[in-house]
Amino acid sequence: MSPPTFGFLLDIDGVLVRGHQVIPAAREAFRRLVDPQGQLRVPVVFVTNAGNVLQRSKAQELSALLGFQVEPDQVILSHSPMKLFSQHHDKRMLVSGQGPLVENARALGFKHVVTVDELRAAFPVLDMVDLQRRPKTTPLPRNDFPAIEGVLLLGEPVRWETSLQLIMDILLSDGNPGTGLATAPYPHLPVLASNTDLLWMAEAKMPRFGHGTFLLCLEAVYRKVTGRELCYAGLMGKPSLLTYQYAEGLLARQAARRGWAAPIRSLYAVGDNPMSDIYGANLFHQHLQTRQEGAARSCAAILVCTGVYSPRARGPAAPALGGEGPPFHGHRDLGFNPGLLQAAHVVSDVHEAVRLVLGKEGWTL
Ligand SMILES: [Mg+2]
Repeated sequence: MSPPTFGFLLDIDGVLVRGHQVIPAAREAFRRLVDPQGQLRVPVVFVTNAGNVLQRSKAQELSALLGFQVEPDQVILSHSPMKLFSQHHDKRMLVSGQGPLVENARALGFKHVVTVDELRAAFPVLDMVDLQRRPKTTPLPRNDFPAIEGVLLLGEPVRWETSLQLIMDILLSDGNPGTGLATAPYPHLPVLASNTDLLWMAEAKMPRFGHGTFLLCLEAVYRKVTGRELCYAGLMGKPSLLTYQYAEGLLARQAARRGWAAPIRSLYAVGDNPMSDIYGANLFHQHLQTRQEGAARSCAAILVCTGVYSPRARGPAAPALGGEGPPFHGHRDLGFNPGLLQAAHVVSDVHEAVRLVLGKEGWTL
């Protein structure tokens, strides 16, 4: 059989798993895609907007659920493209989020990481909203704390008031919250952020706050306080182009490692969320139409009905996540073009998506 010239970008939640349960169609799909030796017949990457988790743990979880070995470098978390921002890797970065924050930041290449909690401990007079957590005595000011040189927003934190306050303190003081400046520096220190999803669906009937809602708060506070716009040195996670460019690179590397010489021309992105999966795949497809360099020529958006999108959805949850009703306008820096919400194909589940693609590519498996 000739080597594949196509590859898959598979979303995880709502496509392969729901909660902690595997969606049966995902097992079916991989029965076609994996050969008897347990090797994939075509390149596959798993692209999720999750961020407060380790790439390695996500790969282990997928391996257990899908019944074959998923490698960590097949998993793209919302912040994975930060690996490309090597110009910031040697800087001392304040990191916000929860879960294995420091390990994640290190795995992305950042050598000097300070958590919001560490900053709070070094400067106890900054975090004053919670009366219970205010210092009981006045601590001596610190002047031995090296300046922070940038901010990494890896995922939604807990105690938003603390993170909002301390991130603002860093931006307004040029990284020296012990000093205080008469005027806020602008441009401010570099800010890299992942996952702009305002909302996501969990067990509740209505959508839950995502990292995008935290970013919205930070942007609003920054604008109100300084009269200027918060600028991102990089914004990643679906639907940003960066995530798809990164995925394309990983698919090509995977093909090369398997000794498949043919370039990967056609990408198929399967997802359940029109606002992130479908919008992002269409945005990348549009970009590929004008791009001169690189191998990929197309990126087809395939929408499944096993997650947030339902063809019959009604009620408050559906419109906000891309069903019928008033459109939800994404993130400030990503613009909004309703035409990009239209999937090339709508199928019932990921197994049908895989069968459709194999058929289109003339593969009989
Ligand atoms: Mg999903």
